[in-house]
Amino acid sequence: MWQTIGHSGTIELLQRAIKRGGLSHAYLLVGPPHIGKMTIAIDIAMALNCRAEPDKKPCGECVACKKIAAGRHSDVQVLSLNQNGSDDSKEKTEIGIDLIKDMLHSASLPPFEGYYRVYIIDEASNLSMEAANRLLKTLEEPIGKIIFILLTANSGLIPITVVSRCQKLKLARLKTLEIEKALNERWQIEPEKALLLARLSHGCLGWAVEASHKSDLPAERSAQFEKMQTIVKGGYSERFAAASIIAQQFAKKREAVYETLDTWAGWWRDILLAKTGCHSDIISLDFEPALAEMARTYTLFQINAVIKYIREAGVQLKQNANSRLVLEALMLNIPKVPETTAPGA
Ligand SMILES: [Zn+2]
Repeated sequence: MWQTIGHSGTIELLQRAIKRGGLSHAYLLVGPPHIGKMTIAIDIAMALNCRAEPDKKPCGECVACKKIAAGRHSDVQVLSLNQNGSDDSKEKTEIGIDLIKDMLHSASLPPFEGYYRVYIIDEASNLSMEAANRLLKTLEEPIGKIIFILLTANSGLIPITVVSRCQKLKLARLKTLEIEKALNERWQIEPEKALLLARLSHGCLGWAVEASHKSDLPAERSAQFEKMQTIVKGGYSERFAAASIIAQQFAKKREAVYETLDTWAGWWRDILLAKTGCHSDIISLDFEPALAEMARTYTLFQINAVIKYIREAGVQLKQNANSRLVLEALMLNIPKVPETTAPGA
């Protein structure tokens, strides 16, 4: 049984190809982080090396399936940034040529214990140009029972010559209901938490599963929400101080700031939904009363404008604008909560 949840169109296509022996020698799985690319890749590796009857592959129970699941099968290899050479002191920014050369050397040998050699390259946009060119040569001249599976969130960052040699499979976000059901049934997460995580996951089951293990997630979210509340209730000094802190964070860890802006945009989207009476679509169910209160405080025009300002700030930061100026402008653009109707007042 395939372990992948959702993505039924992709799984059916792969199943048919495996059944008739018509798998492509290289696949490029494209989709946002935590959407299930690695799970599908592992499923393909299992289906190709499983020792069960053809219509039961991948069984998940034979020695081959178990070894692949545990990352211990000698014919299935995952390459990622984390394995980039032996010098751990250097920051790893690329999957280098040496790793690809080693991989291609082992690919020239027949499968050792299974039926197919499967090479999974996690976030293939991290391949150095030299490594991508070396891999390209092999992709142009497919050899024997070898399958390459490249995973990426953005195929635009991979040389087009490599992309054109792979069968591209785009993975769509899962439906909230699909994720909620999976969390409930496979991971035995209680209904209320499963619903919240499913809504917060933006269609990425892997994110929801990871978040379910974090015992501090509610506290983290409360702290973030409080920070946003401090800004909307605060005067100039609080707002400039917040901009300065976030700008400092941006200098060290850009992704964290993009995430914060996404979270804020999500809350303001929820405020918009509360304002327009679309309560069933609200994502942050854990803050629903406070969001509803904010919806009463602001006009529809103001809420829409804040969402636009947050989005614009994100775009400007990605375009390398001066982060402090961008964040200060954002802080000043968020309308202040009138004292008399402040949430909780
Ligand atoms: Zn099996």
